[in-house]
Amino acid sequence: MSTPLIAGNWKMNGSLSLVEDFARGFADATLPECVDVALMVPFPYLEAAGRAWGDTPLVVGAQTLSDRPAGAFTGEVSGEMLKELGARLVLVGHSERRILFGEDDAAVLARVRAALACELTPVLCLGETLEERDAGRTEAVVLGQLEAVLEGLGVGERPRLVLAYEPVWAIGTGRTASPEQAQAVHGAIRARLTDYCASLAEDMRILYGGSMKAANAAELLAQPDIDGGLVGGASLQVDDFLAICQSA
Ligand code: PGA
Repeated sequence: MSTPLIAGNWKMNGSLSLVEDFARGFADATLPECVDVALMVPFPYLEAAGRAWGDTPLVVGAQTLSDRPAGAFTGEVSGEMLKELGARLVLVGHSERRILFGEDDAAVLARVRAALACELTPVLCLGETLEERDAGRTEAVVLGQLEAVLEGLGVGERPRLVLAYEPVWAIGTGRTASPEQAQAVHGAIRARLTDYCASLAEDMRILYGGSMKAANAAELLAQPDIDGGLVGGASLQVDDFLAICQSA
């Protein structure tokens, strides 16, 4: 079994003082022996986070990246820049990027490739809207998003991904998927990975995201195909996030 990963996603929240709070809160925190912990912070806080969290288990990640390596793309940030500032992971295909910023499957694949090209770990987010779930299309949507990326990658690149299943209707709504609902989709993702390669399926970390909090993390993380969490709102409070990490 792979090491669980708990990744926080601050979205467009946080401050330099929150970076310091996490440094203090995690400096002597007791964590389970086997857990990886990361926080995806806004670009301007990457460098400070890298410096402040050096003596903690917290790994620094970013929330998006450009699909290009460099050039005249005003306002964009490249993977190499993220890496230079200490990021090791980057979210790709978060539903807020897909829905609010128009990133389609091709744009998501291009960003996954850009991340891999500079040795960042892409955390590829997948998830259906409520409308799609109600229409019975959950698996078709989620597996379609997954395949759009896997088909564009080489065999040796696929194992370098982390996946996150985040039902759009559960994000920021307080309405978590039940452990059974989440497990059903995670199981379907794992089964599709098996079609590609048994070891890819076995080793891939599939995180659950969508209103994960201290009160529901343990039962979600206990599901056989849930290998960690992607935590939005509850990653903005040191105590809440620590409690989730401790239940991994
Ligand atoms: P949430 O966000 O935990 O606030 O629902 C999760 C996410 O969007 O990654």
